[in-house]
Amino acid sequence: MSGLRVWLDGAVLEGSQASVSPLAHGLHYGTGVFEGVRCYATARGPAVFRLADHLARMKKGADALGMPFDEAAVTEGVLQTLRANDLRSAYVRPLSFYEGGGLGLDVAPLRARHLVAAMPWKSHLGTGPDAGGVRLRTSSFRRNPSSAMPPLKLCGGYVNSILAKLEATRHGFEEALFVDARGFVCEATGENVFMVKGGRVTAVEHPDALPGITRATVMALCGAEARAVTLEELRDADEVFLTGTSAEVAAVSTLDTRELGVGPVTRELSSLYQAVVHGDAEQARGWLLHA
Ligand code: PMP
Repeated sequence: MSGLRVWLDGAVLEGSQASVSPLAHGLHYGTGVFEGVRCYATARGPAVFRLADHLARMKKGADALGMPFDEAAVTEGVLQTLRANDLRSAYVRPLSFYEGGGLGLDVAPLRARHLVAAMPWKSHLGTGPDAGGVRLRTSSFRRNPSSAMPPLKLCGGYVNSILAKLEATRHGFEEALFVDARGFVCEATGENVFMVKGGRVTAVEHPDALPGITRATVMALCGAEARAVTLEELRDADEVFLTGTSAEVAAVSTLDTRELGVGPVTRELSSLYQAVVHGDAEQARGWLLHA
């Protein structure tokens, strides 16, 4: 964290000064909740995209963990962190986790800590209308079923994504696709899935998938229908793309053994998304909070 300032429990401090107990419950058991948020440079200065929606989702995760969470305080934390680091364009990481109070599994005696960090960012999958696309491989891992863990950004749940991603990269792919036991597509490790067939855009719907904010944005922009999709149907699509705060709109150029390339609908939606997040499109109104 050297050189970066963070917001911790209401105060901005040097990252190197932020300390956490080695017995932090969140470190041992993943008892925390986080968000991934983007701040974009716009003509009117830096602006955070759909922060209220991200923090509303984070609150649901905090509620599931029985953790107090103050959306107004964390909103202020995000803005203060961006200003303190003089960031115009950044990835913002709010994280709330349990710390001291013992290592038992009852969270009642624990103290919650609330952190916001921000850093310069480029899409982790390479994005934008000119990007070459993502090589996606069907995972042998199943997604955490929502009957075992709610599809929220709970820290421990991400071990599932990490195992799937590791398997994919070991096979020379960039990203993994979760498919359920009945053959329905769920999501990727950190992105939702869309397909295009005959010019129609479909957002993959699955009860175990995170309700993505980028997915909701893209659906609002193009009027995509949301429904369940099998892997067989996805393999037969004209275009497949992924959506996520970090990935933005990223074409899937390879799906297992199939070469899809980067299609025209994906390219167009990717351009539109870039215009929206940078405040250059009509639809951005109400989604950008100036830092
Ligand atoms: N699924 C998972 C598992 C994720 O971690 C993410 C990233 N938050 C997404 C989907 C996409 O969600 P969003 O568009 O809200 O970033």
